[in-house]
Amino acid sequence: MAGDALPGAVSTSTVSETASSSLWSFVGDNPYFQAGFGLLGVGAAMTVARTGSIWASTMLRRRMLVSLEIDNRDRAYEWFLAWMAHRAKSSTASASRTAPWIRSHELSVETMIERRPNGSSSVFFQLVAGPGTHWFKYKGAWMQVKRERETRSMMGGQQTGTAVPWETVTLTTLSRDRILFPELLAEARDLGMQGQEGMLVIHTAWGTEWRPFGKPRRKRPVSSVVLEPGMSEKIEADIKAFLARRKWYADRGIPYRRGYLLHGPPGSGKTSFIQALAGSLSYDICILNLSERGLADDKLNHLLSNAPERSFVLIEDIDAAFNKRVQTTADGYQSSVTFSGFLNALDGVASGEERIVFMTTNHVEQLDPALIRPGRVDFSALIDNASPRQARILFERFYGGEVTGDHKVSSNDLDALADKLQNIVEEKMNNGQRVSMAALQGHFIRHRAADAVCSSLELFHA
Ligand code: ADP
Repeated sequence: MAGDALPGAVSTSTVSETASSSLWSFVGDNPYFQAGFGLLGVGAAMTVARTGSIWASTMLRRRMLVSLEIDNRDRAYEWFLAWMAHRAKSSTASASRTAPWIRSHELSVETMIERRPNGSSSVFFQLVAGPGTHWFKYKGAWMQVKRERETRSMMGGQQTGTAVPWETVTLTTLSRDRILFPELLAEARDLGMQGQEGMLVIHTAWGTEWRPFGKPRRKRPVSSVVLEPGMSEKIEADIKAFLARRKWYADRGIPYRRGYLLHGPPGSGKTSFIQALAGSLSYDICILNLSERGLADDKLNHLLSNAPERSFVLIEDIDAAFNKRVQTTADGYQSSVTFSGFLNALDGVASGEERIVFMTTNHVEQLDPALIRPGRVDFSALIDNASPRQARILFERFYGGEVTGDHKVSSNDLDALADKLQNIVEEKMNNGQRVSMAALQGHFIRHRAADAVCSSLELFHA
């Protein structure tokens, strides 16, 4: 009979009941246990309450707050910090009180040097929000800014000692104000780009990224670089024709890229012309230094395929970069970029992306034929020392026309002096002595006074 206890046997339930009742009476009678259980209860309740409140606040944050993270690889990062600094400055000026974020205790300073065309410069400081937490109000909405710096991992040129720490700013606001983020970023971008109209932006490689280098420079008019008559127009026409043929390339499945090689002696205006041309087409310049330490084939490939939109990639002194197909610097350092890696990177993957590469060299004869074959170099031009005609044009630009002040020469004198200079340069040329445009420019800069021009030309002749 299942369930019936055998006579004489002690029921287990009776034993356990007895044990538990004696345990309870022991615990109940023992003041230490009572206190312990009390504390345990309170602790458990507090833990539950704390977990609950963390959970509730996380849920609340999730539902009610929205965050936006910008890291310092993105251009918006600089724009945003500059925008905050600008707001701080303007609100300080207009309301004669400190902007909300500037009351925070964590500030950073950014030093800016403004160079004026007349050669003078001034230095001023901009206070930007430093690492830490800041608050500001934008269009009636409160926003929290958290700027964080990660010093353990660095970004960019470790090899050259120019690495910078990773940084992020995180903007947090109420969910309902999320539409303000795009507005704020657009405002910051417009402010950041404002000073760049009519400016040329130069980028350099930081690790595998391109980053603007220094402040944007004033564009130089193409006409200020005096090349052999017709040369400038020829290069301009070629690149404009290329830019107009994107569809033509796409329809034929040809990679949309063009390579230019400007060769000739130093100081003839190769770099100046490329920069002026970029400016006139509203393109940026990306300067690629093949001798950069740490640059390897894969990074080079990445950089060439990821140049910012509307930019020329400029590789200078290409002859020095690959001496006997091995890339060496003046101090004997051998870069990890191989010649074949460079050729592969130039060829790139067949994509619809536009790519314009300019290369310069002083010794075209030393270049490997593999480098200058069509597809890698499609247009090659000699930019030579000053011809008599170029010297004359440069002289007229310096001392005539719109020029004011002590460089100005009356038009009669100008013609006579220009004739003289032209003859001098011609004579030198016939004697096998060439003068570079850079040397001529230096000469004109040294001799500002109109009455010294003649004698200076004589001196120059000697
Ligand atoms: P390169 O790249 O051929 O070595 P740069 O463009 O660096 O020469 O020129 C050096 C300097 O000489 C610049 O300041 C530039 O203004 C001046 N210069 C050189 N060539 C010319 C030129 N053809 N016309 C006007 N200025 C020139």
